[in-house]
Order: sequence, then C-alpha cells, then structure tokens
Amino acid sequence: MTKPDLRSQTQEEIRRQFQLWQEPAYRVTQLLQWLYARRAAHWGEMTNLPKSLRQRLTETYTLSWPELALRQGARDTTQKFLWRLADGALIESVLIPASPSLYGESSDRHTLCVSTQVGCAYGCKFCASGLDGWKRHLGAEEIINQVLAVERTENGRGRWINNLVIMGMGEPLANYDNLLKALRILNAPWGGQMGARKITVSTSGLAPQIRRLADEPQQFRLAVSLHGATDETRARLMPINKKYPLKELAAACAYYQQKKGRMITLEYILIAGVNDGLDQAPPLAKLALGLRAKVNLIPYNQVEGLPWVRPEEPAQEAFLAALERCKVRATLRREKGGEIDAACGQLRLKTERQGANVA
Ligand code: SF4
Repeated sequence: MTKPDLRSQTQEEIRRQFQLWQEPAYRVTQLLQWLYARRAAHWGEMTNLPKSLRQRLTETYTLSWPELALRQGARDTTQKFLWRLADGALIESVLIPASPSLYGESSDRHTLCVSTQVGCAYGCKFCASGLDGWKRHLGAEEIINQVLAVERTENGRGRWINNLVIMGMGEPLANYDNLLKALRILNAPWGGQMGARKITVSTSGLAPQIRRLADEPQQFRLAVSLHGATDETRARLMPINKKYPLKELAAACAYYQQKKGRMITLEYILIAGVNDGLDQAPPLAKLALGLRAKVNLIPYNQVEGLPWVRPEEPAQEAFLAALERCKVRATLRREKGGEIDAACGQLRLKTERQGANVA
C-alpha cells in the first residue's frame, strides 16, 4: 500500500493517528509547526519530536519535498522555479514580487502562481503546458509544497507569499479534490494561514466544477480564461469551448458570482489577428457587464514553436479603450517576465525537450 504524504493530511487526520499511537495532543501542534510554520523538508529537522515518534511517522507517511531544478529571473522581478518531483516530473511555479492585484489593488504583494498538474489535457492553442499532453495530477502536498519551498528558498521563516494564484501548469478544476484539499490546508489556521480571499482559482472554463466551487464554504476568488468573446473565436483557441460553450460558462460564472458576491476576473490574452479585433470588444463588454466581472487583458507572450504573436501596443490600447467606452472595468497587463519564458509551461517544455541536465 502506498503511504500518504504527511502534508496531504488534515489536522483531524493527524490527530486521529496520534490518538491511536497514544501520543499527547501537543505533539500534533509541534508536528504541524514543523510542517507549515517552519517548512521542514526532512524528518531530521523535527528535532523536538522524540526519535520513536519520528520513526513511526517515517513508517506511516512520506514527506516529499521538491528539488529545485532551475531558477530564472532576478530577485526583484518575476522569478520562475522549475521543480523536480519525486518521480522525476518537472513542474513550474512563478513568483511575482510586489505585484499589483488581479483586481487592481496595489500593495506589497508577493504573488505565487502554482501548478496543479504535470502537463495539461486541455490543449489551448496558445499554451506551452498542453503541448506534450497530460501526464498526471499533482497530489495535495505537491501543490502545497510549491508555496512552502518558494518561501523557504526566498525568505527563511514566516508567511511571506500573501497572494496565491492557481494558474500555472494544468487545469486546476480538473484536479478538483486534490486542489481543494491543498487549499483547505493552506487556508487553515493550523496550516498555511493564508486567507481564502488571497487565493484565486483560475480555470479554462469547466462549468460544472465552477458551480461546485461556488458551493464550497471558502471565499476563493475565481478567474476564468476567456480569450474569446464569441463561441467561434473562443473555440479556435480553446477546445474546451466545444464542451462548455459561452452560454453555459457564463451561467456557471453567474452562479458563482451570486453565491459568493465577489467580483470574477475574465482573463483575455490578446493575440494579434485572432482575438484582438474590435468586433470582440462589444460581446466581451456585454459578458463582463452581465457578470459584473473585471477584464484582465494580457498581451500574448510568445511561445517557441507556436505561430501566435503579440499585438502591437496601439492595438492593445485600442482594445482596452473599446472596453472602457462600454464602462467595463478593465486593465491591460504589462507582463513581467516575458524574457524568462514566463508563460506557463515554457520552461518545463524547453527543459524536457532539450533533455537539459539542470541542477
Ligand atoms: S491554458 Fe491552462 S487549461 Fe489551457 S492548455 Fe494551458 S494549462 Fe491547460
């Protein structure tokens, strides 16, 4: 039988196990401090736990920790972390220090974008993550560990990442159970202590799972990758649109908005000659106004091997202005990190295809 990873366990699950072992309750607190406050990477670090307990823990659980395979970017700008997991799979996390909010608030934010799958099955035409297909889901602990490992690498101790975006490699809502377990642990006062409102879940548009997320008690924020305001344009870029066309997706978003009372973000990557035509602005505005959503325009980041190009700045500005004339709350993002393969999946793809020996 495969052993569960300790960081995939809730406080209650650990407490039950410790009761069976007749360990005192304070040992649970000590262990959780090692796991989350002190971000222990190895059993040997847990020096205030008796050896006999550590022995039992190692016999019952794994304690995985990602190996940093490659890091790109300077400390004060966007940084990309390429992690090698226990089975050799590579995943990416992107750190954006002092980043503006998806919702336009400016503050001292440290945003981390994490992956939820190895590869992706959804095959969006502009994206590097799906180019080599889907390999596997990440476990809850592999999602959590991206946060802890970046903090350990960057900042020693203490909560430092104060904004989490579930938008890296993979479709987060396709790995629903592991994602939700990870988010509940990251949100818990005994775990990551990260406010639910500081966590944004991004999806390519899995309508049933959006409704399921709306029924969860936590106030996670929702971002939807739209990238086309008509079914024709969107289906050209995102195969998922055939399964969940815009009408169905919009209804699920409206349900989320009603249940949570929170503003949704519609992500819209601007691609020259594909979806940046001003004919897309009125239907996009209608959708956004109907959902009381904010639109985040993102000029396309070139992906090696893909034909798409970023529109010139005047075209980007014209698209923004067209939305603003319709009274839509919209921002045009100047991507930090374009120079370091910041679009999700690029660094992993390049590394795997080159068979690079990274360390
Ligand atoms: S954009 Fe997201 S859902 Fe689409 S292929 Fe890339 S990782 Fe998958």
